[in-house]
Amino acid sequence: MSFERSARAALADEQLRGALRHATTLFGERRRAAMATLPDWEGARDRARAIKDETLLHLDRYLEEFTANAERAGARVHWARDAATACEIIGRIAAERGARTVVKSKSMASEEIHLNAALAARGLEPVETDLGEYIVQLAGEGPSHIVAPAIHKTRGQIAALFAEKLGVEPSDDVAALAAAARQTLRRRFAEADLGISGVNFAVAETGTILIVENEGNARLTTTLPRTHVALMGIEKVIPRFADLEVFLQLLPRSGTGQRMTAYQSLLTGAKRRPDDEGPEELHIVVLDNGRSAMLASPVTRQTLACIRCGACLNACPVYRQIGGHAYESVYAGPIGAVLSPQLFGLARSSELPYASSLCGACRDVCPVKIDIPALLLHLRAEVVGRRVGKGGVLERLAFSSYAAVMARPRLFEWVMRAARMLRILPPIGAWTKFRDLRPLAPQSFREQWRAGLRDQAAP
Ligand code: SF4
Repeated sequence: MSFERSARAALADEQLRGALRHATTLFGERRRAAMATLPDWEGARDRARAIKDETLLHLDRYLEEFTANAERAGARVHWARDAATACEIIGRIAAERGARTVVKSKSMASEEIHLNAALAARGLEPVETDLGEYIVQLAGEGPSHIVAPAIHKTRGQIAALFAEKLGVEPSDDVAALAAAARQTLRRRFAEADLGISGVNFAVAETGTILIVENEGNARLTTTLPRTHVALMGIEKVIPRFADLEVFLQLLPRSGTGQRMTAYQSLLTGAKRRPDDEGPEELHIVVLDNGRSAMLASPVTRQTLACIRCGACLNACPVYRQIGGHAYESVYAGPIGAVLSPQLFGLARSSELPYASSLCGACRDVCPVKIDIPALLLHLRAEVVGRRVGKGGVLERLAFSSYAAVMARPRLFEWVMRAARMLRILPPIGAWTKFRDLRPLAPQSFREQWRAGLRDQAAP
Protein backbone atom coordinates (compact mmCIF):
# COMPACT_ATOMS: atom_id res chain seq x y z
CA MET A 1 0.00 0.00 0.00
CA SER A 2 1.27 3.52 -0.70
CA PHE A 3 2.00 5.96 2.12
CA GLU A 4 -0.93 8.11 1.01
CA ARG A 5 -3.40 5.22 1.24
CA SER A 6 -1.99 4.00 4.57
CA ALA A 7 -2.16 7.53 5.95
CA ARG A 8 -5.77 7.91 4.81
CA ALA A 9 -6.69 4.62 6.47
CA ALA A 10 -4.98 5.74 9.68
CA LEU A 11 -6.80 9.09 9.60
CA ALA A 12 -10.13 7.27 9.46
CA ASP A 13 -9.29 5.22 12.57
CA GLU A 14 -10.62 7.21 15.51
CA GLN A 15 -9.39 4.70 18.09
CA LEU A 16 -5.85 4.88 16.72
CA ARG A 17 -5.86 8.65 16.68
CA GLY A 18 -7.19 8.81 20.22
CA ALA A 19 -4.43 6.48 21.46
CA LEU A 20 -1.78 8.50 19.61
CA ARG A 21 -3.09 11.85 20.83
CA HIS A 22 -3.11 10.66 24.43
CA ALA A 23 0.36 9.07 24.38
CA THR A 24 2.25 11.67 22.35
CA THR A 25 0.77 14.53 24.38
CA LEU A 26 1.80 12.82 27.61
CA PHE A 27 5.32 12.17 26.29
CA GLY A 28 5.60 15.83 25.25
CA GLU A 29 4.48 17.12 28.65
CA ARG A 30 6.83 14.79 30.51
CA ARG A 31 9.71 15.75 28.25
CA ARG A 32 9.20 19.46 28.92
CA ALA A 33 9.04 18.86 32.68
CA ALA A 34 12.19 16.71 32.61
CA MET A 35 14.04 19.27 30.47
CA ALA A 36 13.40 21.89 33.13
CA THR A 37 15.40 19.80 35.63
CA LEU A 38 18.59 20.25 33.58
CA PRO A 39 20.05 23.75 34.11
CA ASP A 40 21.71 24.05 30.70
CA TRP A 41 19.61 22.08 28.24
CA GLU A 42 20.89 23.94 25.19
CA GLY A 43 24.50 23.52 26.30
CA ALA A 44 23.96 19.77 26.74
CA ARG A 45 22.46 19.55 23.24
CA ASP A 46 25.47 21.38 21.78
CA ARG A 47 27.93 19.14 23.61
CA ALA A 48 26.16 15.97 22.51
CA ARG A 49 26.08 17.10 18.91
CA ALA A 50 29.75 18.06 18.99
CA ILE A 51 30.66 14.60 20.32
CA LYS A 52 28.58 12.94 17.61
CA ASP A 53 30.10 15.14 14.89
CA GLU A 54 33.60 14.37 16.04
CA THR A 55 32.85 10.64 16.21
CA LEU A 56 31.29 10.52 12.78
CA LEU A 57 34.25 12.35 11.24
CA HIS A 58 36.60 9.65 12.55
CA LEU A 59 34.19 6.76 12.75
CA ASP A 60 36.63 4.21 11.32
CA ARG A 61 39.16 5.00 14.03
CA TYR A 62 36.64 4.85 16.88
CA LEU A 63 35.13 1.60 15.63
CA GLU A 64 38.57 0.01 15.51
CA GLU A 65 39.33 1.25 19.01
CA PHE A 66 35.99 -0.07 20.28
CA THR A 67 36.60 -3.47 18.66
CA ALA A 68 40.09 -3.81 20.09
CA ASN A 69 38.98 -2.90 23.61
CA ALA A 70 35.79 -5.03 23.53
CA GLU A 71 37.79 -8.07 22.36
CA ARG A 72 40.47 -7.42 24.96
CA ALA A 73 37.70 -7.58 27.57
CA GLY A 74 36.54 -10.95 26.23
CA ALA A 75 33.81 -10.05 23.74
CA ARG A 76 33.83 -11.25 20.16
CA VAL A 77 33.06 -8.54 17.58
CA HIS A 78 31.51 -9.43 14.20
CA TRP A 79 31.09 -7.07 11.27
CA ALA A 80 27.93 -7.17 9.16
CA ARG A 81 27.86 -5.26 5.90
CA ASP A 82 24.11 -5.76 5.44
CA ALA A 83 20.96 -7.22 6.99
CA ALA A 84 21.44 -10.67 5.47
CA THR A 85 24.99 -10.94 6.84
CA ALA A 86 23.89 -9.85 10.31
CA CYS A 87 21.06 -12.42 10.34
CA GLU A 88 23.47 -15.09 9.10
CA ILE A 89 26.02 -14.32 11.84
CA ILE A 90 23.40 -14.38 14.61
CA GLY A 91 21.70 -17.48 13.21
CA ARG A 92 25.09 -19.26 13.08
CA ILE A 93 25.93 -18.31 16.66
CA ALA A 94 22.56 -19.72 17.75
CA ALA A 95 22.96 -22.92 15.71
CA GLU A 96 26.50 -23.59 16.97
CA ARG A 97 25.23 -23.42 20.55
CA GLY A 98 22.21 -25.62 19.85
CA ALA A 99 19.86 -22.82 20.88
CA ARG A 100 16.11 -23.29 20.53
CA THR A 101 14.55 -20.44 22.48
CA VAL A 102 15.87 -16.92 22.10
CA VAL A 103 14.85 -14.01 24.31
CA LYS A 104 15.18 -10.52 22.91
CA SER A 105 15.18 -7.14 24.53
CA LYS A 106 14.13 -4.14 22.50
CA SER A 107 16.30 -3.50 19.46
CA MET A 108 15.28 -1.38 16.50
CA ALA A 109 18.32 -2.65 14.60
CA SER A 110 16.94 -6.19 14.90
CA GLU A 111 13.61 -4.94 13.54
CA GLU A 112 15.50 -3.24 10.71
CA ILE A 113 17.13 -6.51 9.61
CA HIS A 114 13.97 -8.61 10.23
CA LEU A 115 15.89 -10.81 12.60
CA ASN A 116 12.84 -12.56 14.06
CA ALA A 117 11.80 -13.89 10.65
CA ALA A 118 15.37 -15.01 9.92
CA LEU A 119 15.58 -16.86 13.26
CA ALA A 120 12.16 -18.43 12.79
CA ALA A 121 13.27 -19.68 9.35
CA ARG A 122 16.04 -21.56 11.19
CA GLY A 123 13.53 -23.20 13.53
CA LEU A 124 14.26 -20.90 16.46
CA GLU A 125 11.65 -19.19 18.58
CA PRO A 126 12.50 -15.54 19.27
CA VAL A 127 10.49 -14.08 22.16
CA GLU A 128 10.30 -10.32 22.62
CA THR A 129 10.56 -9.38 26.29
CA ASP A 130 10.07 -5.60 26.26
CA LEU A 131 6.39 -5.24 27.14
CA GLY A 132 5.57 -3.05 24.13
CA GLU A 133 7.49 -5.33 21.78
CA TYR A 134 5.82 -8.37 23.35
CA ILE A 135 2.39 -6.83 22.73
CA VAL A 136 3.09 -6.14 19.04
CA GLN A 137 4.65 -9.58 18.62
CA LEU A 138 1.50 -11.21 20.05
CA ALA A 139 -0.57 -9.06 17.69
CA GLY A 140 1.56 -10.07 14.70
CA GLU A 141 2.52 -6.46 14.08
CA GLY A 142 5.70 -4.39 13.95
CA PRO A 143 6.52 -1.52 16.32
CA SER A 144 4.82 1.78 15.57
CA HIS A 145 7.19 3.95 17.62
CA ILE A 146 10.91 3.59 18.27
CA VAL A 147 10.55 3.96 22.03
CA ALA A 148 6.96 2.84 22.66
CA PRO A 149 6.30 0.05 20.14
CA ALA A 150 2.62 -0.44 21.11
CA ILE A 151 1.78 3.27 21.34
CA HIS A 152 -1.03 2.76 18.82
CA LYS A 153 -2.95 0.37 21.05
CA THR A 154 -5.51 1.27 23.68
CA ARG A 155 -5.63 -0.49 27.02
CA GLY A 156 -8.85 -2.23 25.96
CA GLN A 157 -7.22 -3.59 22.82
CA ILE A 158 -4.29 -4.95 24.84
CA ALA A 159 -6.67 -6.56 27.33
CA ALA A 160 -8.53 -8.31 24.50
CA LEU A 161 -5.23 -9.42 22.94
CA PHE A 162 -3.95 -10.90 26.21
CA ALA A 163 -7.25 -12.68 26.80
CA GLU A 164 -7.05 -14.23 23.35
CA LYS A 165 -3.35 -15.10 23.23
CA LEU A 166 -2.47 -15.77 26.87
CA GLY A 167 -5.82 -17.12 28.01
CA VAL A 168 -6.07 -14.68 30.93
CA GLU A 169 -9.25 -13.07 32.23
CA PRO A 170 -10.03 -9.90 30.25
CA SER A 171 -8.99 -6.92 32.38
CA ASP A 172 -8.01 -3.39 31.56
CA ASP A 173 -6.12 -3.04 34.84
CA VAL A 174 -2.55 -2.14 33.86
CA ALA A 175 -1.00 -3.98 36.83
CA ALA A 176 -2.94 -7.16 35.99
CA LEU A 177 -1.89 -6.97 32.34
CA ALA A 178 1.75 -6.42 33.25
CA ALA A 179 1.60 -9.33 35.72
CA ALA A 180 0.19 -11.64 33.03
CA ALA A 181 3.03 -10.74 30.66
CA ARG A 182 5.62 -11.04 33.42
CA GLN A 183 4.44 -14.55 34.36
CA THR A 184 4.74 -15.79 30.78
CA LEU A 185 8.04 -14.07 30.10
CA ARG A 186 9.77 -15.29 33.29
CA ARG A 187 9.38 -18.86 32.04
CA ARG A 188 10.81 -17.90 28.66
CA PHE A 189 13.81 -16.24 30.29
CA ALA A 190 14.51 -19.38 32.31
CA GLU A 191 14.49 -21.67 29.27
CA ALA A 192 16.32 -19.36 26.84
CA ASP A 193 19.65 -20.46 25.42
CA LEU A 194 20.49 -17.14 23.82
CA GLY A 195 19.76 -13.50 24.62
CA ILE A 196 19.74 -10.80 21.96
CA SER A 197 19.80 -7.11 22.80
CA GLY A 198 20.34 -3.79 21.12
CA VAL A 199 22.92 -1.22 22.19
CA ASN A 200 22.35 2.43 23.08
CA PHE A 201 25.99 3.47 23.23
CA ALA A 202 29.30 1.69 22.64
CA VAL A 203 32.33 3.29 24.30
CA ALA A 204 35.48 3.11 22.16
CA GLU A 205 37.81 3.89 25.07
CA THR A 206 36.75 0.86 27.15
CA GLY A 207 34.90 -1.51 24.78
CA THR A 208 31.80 -1.12 26.97
CA ILE A 209 28.23 -1.31 25.68
CA LEU A 210 25.41 0.50 27.45
CA ILE A 211 21.75 -0.45 27.40
CA VAL A 212 19.09 1.75 29.00
CA GLU A 213 15.65 0.43 29.88
CA ASN A 214 12.85 0.57 32.43
CA GLU A 215 11.54 -2.96 32.76
CA GLY A 216 14.57 -5.03 33.74
CA ASN A 217 14.03 -7.29 30.75
CA ALA A 218 17.22 -6.17 29.03
CA ARG A 219 19.20 -6.98 32.16
CA LEU A 220 17.67 -10.47 32.25
CA THR A 221 18.23 -10.93 28.50
CA THR A 222 21.88 -10.01 28.81
CA THR A 223 22.67 -12.01 31.95
CA LEU A 224 20.49 -15.15 32.23
CA PRO A 225 21.23 -16.98 28.93
CA ARG A 226 24.74 -18.39 28.55
CA THR A 227 25.27 -16.46 25.32
CA HIS A 228 24.50 -12.81 24.73
CA VAL A 229 24.43 -11.27 21.25
CA ALA A 230 24.33 -7.45 21.11
CA LEU A 231 23.40 -5.90 17.79
CA MET A 232 24.46 -2.30 17.13
CA GLY A 233 24.61 0.06 14.18
CA ILE A 234 28.03 1.55 13.45
CA GLU A 235 26.77 4.94 14.66
CA LYS A 236 26.36 3.79 18.27
CA VAL A 237 30.02 4.25 19.10
CA ILE A 238 31.13 7.25 21.17
CA PRO A 239 34.76 8.05 21.98
CA ARG A 240 35.04 8.27 25.76
CA PHE A 241 33.36 6.88 28.86
CA ALA A 242 32.94 10.43 30.15
CA ASP A 243 30.84 11.24 27.06
CA LEU A 244 28.07 9.07 28.48
CA GLU A 245 27.31 11.77 31.02
CA VAL A 246 25.73 14.14 28.52
CA PHE A 247 23.90 11.43 26.57
CA LEU A 248 22.46 9.97 29.76
CA GLN A 249 21.12 13.42 30.59
CA LEU A 250 19.50 13.87 27.20
CA LEU A 251 18.22 10.43 26.17
CA PRO A 252 15.82 9.58 29.03
CA ARG A 253 14.53 13.14 29.28
CA SER A 254 13.84 13.32 25.55
CA GLY A 255 12.52 9.78 25.20
CA THR A 256 10.27 9.11 28.15
CA GLY A 257 10.49 12.33 30.13
CA GLN A 258 12.58 10.69 32.86
CA ARG A 259 15.64 12.14 34.54
CA MET A 260 17.06 8.65 34.38
CA THR A 261 15.75 5.28 33.22
CA ALA A 262 15.24 2.58 35.86
CA TYR A 263 18.18 0.50 34.62
CA GLN A 264 21.45 1.32 32.89
CA SER A 265 23.43 -1.83 32.10
CA LEU A 266 27.10 -1.31 31.32
CA LEU A 267 28.65 -4.47 29.88
CA THR A 268 32.37 -4.85 29.30
CA GLY A 269 33.17 -8.30 27.92
CA ALA A 270 31.81 -11.64 29.13
CA LYS A 271 32.25 -13.11 32.60
CA ARG A 272 35.82 -14.02 33.41
CA ARG A 273 35.57 -16.31 36.45
CA PRO A 274 32.98 -19.07 37.05
CA ASP A 275 31.51 -17.20 40.03
CA ASP A 276 31.04 -13.97 38.07
CA GLU A 277 27.58 -12.99 36.92
CA GLY A 278 26.63 -12.63 33.30
CA PRO A 279 26.89 -14.66 30.11
CA GLU A 280 29.77 -16.94 29.25
CA GLU A 281 30.01 -15.41 25.80
CA LEU A 282 29.33 -11.92 24.52
CA HIS A 283 29.09 -11.41 20.76
CA ILE A 284 28.75 -7.87 19.41
CA VAL A 285 27.45 -7.61 15.86
CA VAL A 286 28.30 -4.24 14.28
CA LEU A 287 25.90 -3.42 11.49
CA ASP A 288 26.45 -1.13 8.52
CA ASN A 289 23.44 -1.83 6.28
CA GLY A 290 23.67 1.44 4.34
CA ARG A 291 24.96 3.63 7.13
CA SER A 292 28.46 4.23 5.77
CA ALA A 293 26.93 5.73 2.60
CA MET A 294 25.40 8.45 4.79
CA LEU A 295 28.86 9.50 5.96
CA ALA A 296 29.71 10.88 2.54
CA SER A 297 27.97 14.25 2.85
CA PRO A 298 27.60 16.54 5.90
CA VAL A 299 23.84 16.80 5.21
CA THR A 300 23.17 13.06 5.30
CA ARG A 301 25.89 12.34 7.88
CA GLN A 302 23.91 14.01 10.63
CA THR A 303 21.28 11.26 10.32
CA LEU A 304 23.78 9.04 12.13
CA ALA A 305 23.83 11.37 15.13
CA CYS A 306 20.37 10.11 16.10
CA ILE A 307 20.16 8.52 19.54
CA ARG A 308 16.68 7.06 18.88
CA CYS A 309 14.91 8.97 21.63
CA GLY A 310 11.64 9.27 19.72
CA ALA A 311 11.04 12.92 20.68
CA CYS A 312 10.67 13.96 17.04
CA LEU A 313 7.86 11.43 16.57
CA ASN A 314 5.96 12.77 19.57
CA ALA A 315 6.31 16.35 18.32
CA CYS A 316 5.50 15.72 14.66
CA PRO A 317 2.01 16.86 13.58
CA VAL A 318 2.00 14.17 10.88
CA TYR A 319 3.06 11.26 13.10
CA ARG A 320 0.67 12.38 15.83
CA GLN A 321 -2.24 11.92 13.43
CA ILE A 322 -1.31 8.73 11.60
CA GLY A 323 1.07 6.78 13.86
CA GLY A 324 3.97 4.61 12.79
CA HIS A 325 2.45 1.82 10.69
CA ALA A 326 1.39 4.24 7.95
CA TYR A 327 5.06 4.83 7.16
CA GLU A 328 5.32 1.14 6.23
CA SER A 329 8.85 1.04 7.51
CA VAL A 330 10.50 -0.04 10.74
CA TYR A 331 11.47 3.58 11.35
CA ALA A 332 8.53 5.99 11.49
CA GLY A 333 8.00 9.68 12.05
CA PRO A 334 10.43 12.43 11.03
CA ILE A 335 13.58 10.40 11.67
CA GLY A 336 11.99 7.45 9.86
CA ALA A 337 11.19 9.66 6.89
CA VAL A 338 14.89 10.44 6.50
CA LEU A 339 16.35 7.11 7.66
CA SER A 340 14.19 4.76 5.62
CA PRO A 341 14.99 6.20 2.15
CA GLN A 342 18.69 6.15 3.01
CA LEU A 343 18.70 2.65 4.49
CA PHE A 344 16.22 0.88 2.25
CA GLY A 345 16.53 2.87 -0.96
CA LEU A 346 14.82 5.97 -2.31
CA ALA A 347 12.77 3.91 -4.76
CA ARG A 348 11.09 2.03 -1.89
CA SER A 349 10.45 5.05 0.32
CA SER A 350 10.17 7.94 -2.13
CA GLU A 351 6.94 9.24 -0.54
CA LEU A 352 8.36 9.52 2.97
CA PRO A 353 10.41 12.73 2.53
CA TYR A 354 7.07 14.37 1.68
CA ALA A 355 5.40 13.11 4.88
CA SER A 356 6.13 16.41 6.60
CA SER A 357 4.83 19.95 6.74
CA LEU A 358 8.42 21.16 7.35
CA CYS A 359 7.20 22.95 10.46
CA GLY A 360 10.52 22.30 12.19
CA ALA A 361 9.09 20.83 15.43
CA CYS A 362 11.33 17.78 15.01
CA ARG A 363 14.46 19.93 14.78
CA ASP A 364 13.40 21.94 17.84
CA VAL A 365 13.01 18.91 20.09
CA CYS A 366 15.92 16.83 18.82
CA PRO A 367 18.46 16.46 21.65
CA VAL A 368 21.32 16.24 19.14
CA LYS A 369 20.04 19.07 16.94
CA ILE A 370 19.58 17.07 13.76
CA ASP A 371 18.23 19.36 11.05
CA ILE A 372 15.54 16.96 9.85
CA PRO A 373 13.75 19.53 7.61
CA ALA A 374 17.04 20.12 5.74
CA LEU A 375 17.43 16.36 5.33
CA LEU A 376 13.86 16.05 4.07
CA LEU A 377 14.47 18.78 1.48
CA HIS A 378 17.72 17.11 0.45
CA LEU A 379 15.92 13.80 -0.08
CA ARG A 380 13.05 15.50 -1.93
CA ALA A 381 15.62 17.00 -4.32
CA GLU A 382 17.04 13.51 -4.82
CA VAL A 383 13.58 12.10 -5.54
CA VAL A 384 12.98 14.79 -8.17
CA GLY A 385 16.51 14.49 -9.57
CA ARG A 386 16.19 10.76 -10.09
CA ARG A 387 12.73 10.93 -11.66
CA VAL A 388 13.61 10.17 -15.27
CA GLY A 389 10.11 9.43 -16.61
CA LYS A 390 7.63 11.73 -18.32
CA GLY A 391 6.54 13.30 -15.02
CA GLY A 392 10.11 14.35 -14.21
CA VAL A 393 10.75 15.95 -17.61
CA LEU A 394 7.45 17.86 -17.48
CA GLU A 395 8.13 19.00 -13.93
CA ARG A 396 11.58 20.29 -14.86
CA LEU A 397 10.15 22.04 -17.95
CA ALA A 398 7.42 23.65 -15.84
CA PHE A 399 9.89 24.93 -13.25
CA SER A 400 12.37 26.28 -15.82
CA SER A 401 9.50 28.13 -17.59
CA TYR A 402 8.32 29.46 -14.22
CA ALA A 403 11.85 30.64 -13.40
CA ALA A 404 12.15 32.35 -16.81
CA VAL A 405 8.86 34.22 -16.30
CA MET A 406 9.63 35.21 -12.70
CA ALA A 407 13.00 36.65 -13.71
CA ARG A 408 11.39 39.04 -16.27
CA PRO A 409 8.91 41.56 -14.73
CA ARG A 410 7.35 42.63 -18.04
CA LEU A 411 6.88 39.06 -19.20
CA PHE A 412 5.42 38.17 -15.80
CA GLU A 413 2.91 41.02 -16.07
CA TRP A 414 1.91 39.99 -19.55
CA VAL A 415 1.49 36.32 -18.62
CA MET A 416 -0.63 37.18 -15.57
CA ARG A 417 -2.85 39.53 -17.62
CA ALA A 418 -3.38 36.82 -20.23
CA ALA A 419 -4.10 34.22 -17.52
CA ARG A 420 -6.70 36.54 -15.94
CA MET A 421 -8.40 37.38 -19.24
CA LEU A 422 -8.49 33.78 -20.45
CA ARG A 423 -9.17 32.38 -16.96
CA ILE A 424 -6.25 29.96 -17.27
CA LEU A 425 -5.18 28.03 -14.19
CA PRO A 426 -1.85 26.26 -14.11
CA PRO A 427 -2.04 22.44 -14.41
CA ILE A 428 -0.98 21.76 -10.83
CA GLY A 429 -3.68 19.32 -9.79
CA ALA A 430 -1.26 17.22 -7.72
CA TRP A 431 -0.27 20.31 -5.74
CA THR A 432 -3.82 21.62 -5.23
CA LYS A 433 -5.05 18.17 -4.16
CA PHE A 434 -4.08 19.03 -0.59
CA ARG A 435 -3.93 22.86 -0.82
CA ASP A 436 -6.12 25.76 -1.92
CA LEU A 437 -5.05 27.94 -4.83
CA ARG A 438 -6.35 31.45 -4.36
CA PRO A 439 -8.17 32.81 -7.45
CA LEU A 440 -6.32 35.52 -9.40
CA ALA A 441 -7.28 39.06 -8.35
CA PRO A 442 -9.24 40.99 -11.02
CA GLN A 443 -6.46 43.59 -11.02
CA SER A 444 -2.82 42.98 -10.23
CA PHE A 445 -1.03 45.07 -7.62
CA ARG A 446 0.96 46.82 -10.34
CA GLU A 447 -2.24 47.78 -12.19
CA GLN A 448 -3.84 49.04 -8.96
CA TRP A 449 -0.67 51.01 -8.25
CA ARG A 450 -0.72 52.66 -11.63
CA ALA A 451 -4.46 53.32 -11.37
CA GLY A 452 -4.08 55.53 -8.31
CA LEU A 453 -3.03 53.44 -5.36
CA ARG A 454 0.31 55.24 -5.52
CA ASP A 455 -1.45 58.58 -4.87
CA GLN A 456 -3.50 57.17 -1.97
CA ALA A 457 -0.33 55.74 -0.44
CA ALA A 458 1.52 59.09 -0.65
CA PRO A 459 1.84 60.89 2.75
S1 SF4 B 1 16.18 12.50 15.23
FE1 SF4 B 1 16.60 13.47 17.20
S2 SF4 B 1 14.56 13.60 18.16
FE2 SF4 B 1 14.38 12.10 16.49
S3 SF4 B 1 14.76 10.11 17.44
FE3 SF4 B 1 16.74 10.86 16.65
S4 SF4 B 1 17.68 11.91 18.38
FE4 SF4 B 1 15.53 11.69 18.89
